[in-house]
Order: sequence, then C-alpha cells, then structure tokens
Amino acid sequence: MTRQLRIAVIGAGPAGIYASDILTKADLPEPFESVSIDILDRDPTPFGLIRYGVAPDHPRIKEIIKALHRVMNNENIRFFGNVNYGTDLKLDDLTGFYDAVIFATGARRDRDLDLPGIDLDGSFGGADFVAWYDGHPDTSREWNFAPHAEQVAVLGVGNVGLDVARMLTKTAEELLVTEIPDNVHTGLATNATTDVHIFARRGPAQVKFTPMELRELSHSPNIDVIVHPEGFELDEGSMDAIRASKSQKLVVDVLQNYLAKEPTGAMHRVHIHFCQNPVEILGENGQVVGLRTEITQLDGTGNTKGTGEFTDWPVQAVYRAIGYYSDNLSGLPFDQVHGVVPNDGGRVLEVDGSPLSGAYVTGWIKRGPVGLIGHTKSDAAETIRLLMEDLDDLVAPENPELDAIERHFDTHGIEYTSWAGWEKLNEHEMSLGEGHAHDRERVKVVPREDMVRVARS
Ligand code: NAP
Repeated sequence: MTRQLRIAVIGAGPAGIYASDILTKADLPEPFESVSIDILDRDPTPFGLIRYGVAPDHPRIKEIIKALHRVMNNENIRFFGNVNYGTDLKLDDLTGFYDAVIFATGARRDRDLDLPGIDLDGSFGGADFVAWYDGHPDTSREWNFAPHAEQVAVLGVGNVGLDVARMLTKTAEELLVTEIPDNVHTGLATNATTDVHIFARRGPAQVKFTPMELRELSHSPNIDVIVHPEGFELDEGSMDAIRASKSQKLVVDVLQNYLAKEPTGAMHRVHIHFCQNPVEILGENGQVVGLRTEITQLDGTGNTKGTGEFTDWPVQAVYRAIGYYSDNLSGLPFDQVHGVVPNDGGRVLEVDGSPLSGAYVTGWIKRGPVGLIGHTKSDAAETIRLLMEDLDDLVAPENPELDAIERHFDTHGIEYTSWAGWEKLNEHEMSLGEGHAHDRERVKVVPREDMVRVARS
C-alpha cells in the first residue's frame, strides 16, 4: 500500500526551507507516493535570520525571501509558527506524527566571551543588538544607548561586527528608508556614537569580513573608515592566505585602500585596529569606561602570540561580535564546545556515536555558525540525500494524518500561525509602510501578541 512520507522541519529559516525544497523534488521509492512537509518555527513568522539577522540596510540579501516564498507556496509544504520545540512539542510528539524530523534551528545567541568586565553595563552581545534593531519579538523594545557613549568598541572582525559598526554609525534618518520598526528608529535617534573601534586579534589577512560588505561600509556619507597602520602586518603566513583565497585577497585590497585614504570629515568614523587582543573590559561604578587590549604579533602560521604590551582604549560601550551559538535542543545530544548537534553528514548521532533514527540536522545547527546563506543549500542537499538512503529503516509514525499536528496544538492551547497567517501579516506590514510618513516598503510589527493576532485574524 502506498502512503505519504511525513516530514517535520524545525526552523523556518533558509536552512529549513532549502531542505524542504530539495525534499519536494526528490525521487521517492515505494511505498511513498508523495511527501508532506510541516515546517515549524518558534517565531510567528518564517525566514529566520533573514528576517531577524540580516541588517535592515541589506535589502539585497532580504530579496532571498522572494525565492523562499516560492518554495513555501508548494502545496506539499505547510508552515506552523509560534510553536516552541521542546515545550509546545517534544521529540516524542513529533515521532508520533512524522517519519523523520529535520532540525534546522540555526544559531541566534552570542557566543560567550570569558573576559573580566564582560557583565558591566554598556557591554553588549552583537546578536542581542541585531535582534533589537531587527525587531525580534522576544527582545526589549528599548536599547540602552548610554547618552555619553561616543566611543564604542566592537570585538571581532566578521560580518556581524561590520553590521553592528554600520548600525551604530549610520544616522537614524539614514535608516528610515529601511523596514526598521518605529521603536528602533526612536532608539537609534538617541545613539551618541561618533567613533566605533573594531578590534581584530590577528592581522588583515586573517579577518572574516567578506569584500562586498567591507567595501559597503564607506558607502554612507556619514561614515569615514579609518584603518590604523599599527599591526597592519602581512607576514609570510598572511601572504600564503592571500594566495590561497581570492576573497581574502580582495578583503586585504579593500583594507589597503582604506589605509591609504584620507578621512573626508564625515560625522562618524569606523576605525579598524589589527593585532589587538581584548583582555579586559574596564569599568567604574558598574559601567564600561574602557577596553584593555594586548598587542599581538603574527607567528607566521596565521596565529598570534601576545607581546605583553597593553593599551587602554577609552570607550563607553563594548559590543562583542565574536560569533553565534546554537541552542541546545531537547531530546538531542549537544556538543557544547562547537555548539552543534553531533552528526555525520546530517544524521544525528547519539552519545555512543550511533545514529538517532529519524533525526537529522542541517544549516548552522549541523556545521556551526559559519558561511553565507547560500552555503546552506549544499548542506541541505547532503542531509536530504542521507535521509533518502535511510527511508527503508525509518519507523512509520502512529498518527500520520495531516490534521494530527493541528489537533495537538488545539488540545494544548497553542496559538500557532500558518502560511496564510504570514501572508496576512506580510500585507499588514507593507500597508504600514505605505501609510508611513516616509512611504517605506514595510514597517515590521514587533510585539509577538500583535503578530499572532494579525496572523490569526
Ligand atoms: P565570524 O565570521 O566567525 O567572525 C567572528 C570574529 O570574531 C572573527 O574575527 C574572530 O576572530 C573573532 N573572535 C572570536 N573569538 C574572539 C575573541 N575571544 N576575541 C576577539 N575576537 C574573537 O562570525 P560572525 O561575524 O558572527 O558571522 C557569522 C556568519 O554569518 C559568517 O559566515 C558571516 O559571513 C555571516 N554573515 C554575513 C553577513 C552579510 O552581510 N553577508 C552579515 C552577518 C553575518 P578569529 O578569526 O581570530 O577567531
């Protein structure tokens, strides 16, 4: 007898949607005649980090949503938002409804940084700031910009560090054309930052920026990018890195251009400092008053060693942008060091190394928080290939009926949102943009209860 293959995907970001897309196109062996995929997310909305991680002044990246929309319009894919895996639903519930579960929960928290002073007022996580300016419903509506915080440090030289630096140095007016919610515009207008200092603990050839994002930093008329010559070293290891990667060479070229350029006198500055390892956040009365760094020296391998020479930078706020970290998922093993679910190509592995039947991972929860959005496609392809190989061995669910999951939500009083609900919210946000004094494409709704109310209306 033929039947439908039932798959749950936890996480409606690009990783989960790409995996679903690939799955809808897969050749299914007997007894499966078709596949039905339910994508669940704790946010009331789909698109994960594209909605809540990509900076609002990056509309080009947000365009990816259009392609994801097309995937989600597939009649074999359903969306259930505002559903929290681990509390609203556990692994045992899911295995009762589905043949397999693919976890694509990504990474949203800041990686911890064990530095003296990290808990001072004025010391922030970059991911928290991103969640605030992107209007995530679970963040506070206000950001604590200290009125006197003109000099700000950003730790880490990846693209999140660039996003944070740009959002701190563009003006609130400049960002008003974007989809930032009203509370974010009001908050940004109180930001007193004039200078952001980005600190790299290694050299220019070891940064994690990508060339386009680094170039873009100078596109604002309100920002001068100043690369400081101290520590701008290219040793033999750096030359090897440049020869090995076209992208790294381009990044170093952009940095060299900035190094040679005279400041234009713009109202804000982003400084980039190399070979400065942050060792302490300095405080007075519980508030950040500085950052202490140790000057480092490249050792020829791409790593550095400390010189024992320290510099104190008078800054009034510090943002760490040293990488994301995934949440531990209920019922699954977790590798604390790498912040991923242990897996072999996407098959979840138990503590003893054997595969956990019917459980798969893709995206950042599979391989860690690195790589651009497009990279999750090949990742998803690998996971789905292994899932296809395993189909014969999967345990069929006890309640495979399509409405079983909705019955579960209703019995447990879970106010889930649907794809149709997202389309309503989407239209509502666009109409807020149209009616806005500045005629914007969209204005995001922030409170969770408002999003759910519109989506379920
Ligand atoms: P990332 O690219 O891994 O960069 C993290 C940075 O933090 C690195 O420079 C790292 O330096 C530094 N770091 C780590 N631990 C540190 C410590 N203890 N002290 C000082 N510095 C430390 O992470 P990310 O910026 O969070 O980005 C994550 C991914 O999202 C990346 O693939 C990124 O390209 C992508 N993304 C893309 C965009 C875009 O606009 N296209 C925007 C945001 C994010 P070391 O190398 O020395 O460890």
